[in-house]
Amino acid sequence: MTKEVVMGIVGFGGMGSYHVHELIFREKNVRLKGGYDIKPERNEALGKEGYHVYASYEEMLNDPEIELVLVATPNDTHKALATAALEHGKNVISEKPAMMSSKELEEVLAVAKKAGKQFFVHQNRRWDPDFRIITELYEKKPLGEVFDIESRVHGANGIPGDWRHNLNQGGGMVLDWGVHLLDQLLFLIDSPVTSVQADLSYIEGNEVDDGFEAKLYFKNGVIALVEVGTSNFIKLPRWYVKALEGTAVIDDWDLSGKMVKATGFLGEAPTPIQAGVGLTKTMAPPSEEATETLPLPEGIALAPSVYENIFQVLRNDAPRIVKNEEVLRVMRLMETIFKAGHAHQVLPFEK
Ligand code: NAD
Repeated sequence: MTKEVVMGIVGFGGMGSYHVHELIFREKNVRLKGGYDIKPERNEALGKEGYHVYASYEEMLNDPEIELVLVATPNDTHKALATAALEHGKNVISEKPAMMSSKELEEVLAVAKKAGKQFFVHQNRRWDPDFRIITELYEKKPLGEVFDIESRVHGANGIPGDWRHNLNQGGGMVLDWGVHLLDQLLFLIDSPVTSVQADLSYIEGNEVDDGFEAKLYFKNGVIALVEVGTSNFIKLPRWYVKALEGTAVIDDWDLSGKMVKATGFLGEAPTPIQAGVGLTKTMAPPSEEATETLPLPEGIALAPSVYENIFQVLRNDAPRIVKNEEVLRVMRLMETIFKAGHAHQVLPFEK
């Protein structure tokens, strides 16, 4: 039997709890031994669940049984915590965004290399069922070649009332949600992003962006719009995808949505309709025979799970699902989005 990976966790807040309650316990090859949080009440909560609570982070890093450390703390602390763990001979999985900048990430990757240890990043939304459906639309082309993708998340609660408000803690929505949506698109579309346009929003008057819109122009001709909004009392669909033979919409994470596909029927031209105070033929609905409405496909599953992949990498040198060069590329793209947004310019990104 191959030896299980024993883990420790630093930061038992919102996402740390999610790892413990929703992810790690499902794993047969990864076991959580214990953890440490700077807040005594969070340590108490961890202890009540039967896990070992370390007196300090240092004490956890000196536990020879711990092989993998999950860093689930605010963004500005990832670098120091990950570096310390790597230097103590531990492998690390860091929550997203991996670091505050591409420079920080390069430095941590150099530490990992020197220590001969593995550094992983939790880009969990590559496994999201809605994104798996988009992957099927893009790769299997049930509607023909996809040429335009709109990926949005909309909320109406502003920035959550925590460290996400603070610039020096890596707050703001580009780093919070943007990192997920951009990671999905770069993982999906195997083509350089030649240029980037962006608008950042500061509606709430915070020092960090409370939302943004970015347009990515891929070399293969695909255009993608990414939007994160926190002042949207009416949401737009999570995904809107245009392909040469049809359109697909996924409304929400509940996977409601549909595809409308052209049948190829060549009948009468659409009859003009009254539109506002005028007439239009162009915007008239196609005739009933010209299109069919279809359910969304199931989506292409991504396996194995985040933790099983880490186990396989550590024990069998298996290929990683989330590669560090991909994480670095997304960090650089976010930096270009900030520059493009602040300069109100379309900026080049890759050749
Ligand atoms: P949170 O504020 O709920 O929890 C952070 C916890 O870390 C707190 O309990 C805090 O006391 C503790 N902490 C802070 N500094 C520490 C230190 N130096 N040592 C030990 N503990 C420390 O924040 P959160 O929402 O859980 O976010 C944590 C990380 O997880 C962030 O990087 C965030 O971007 C990420 N996150 C990822 C996802 C995802 O889907 N992948 C979702 C939410 C959050």
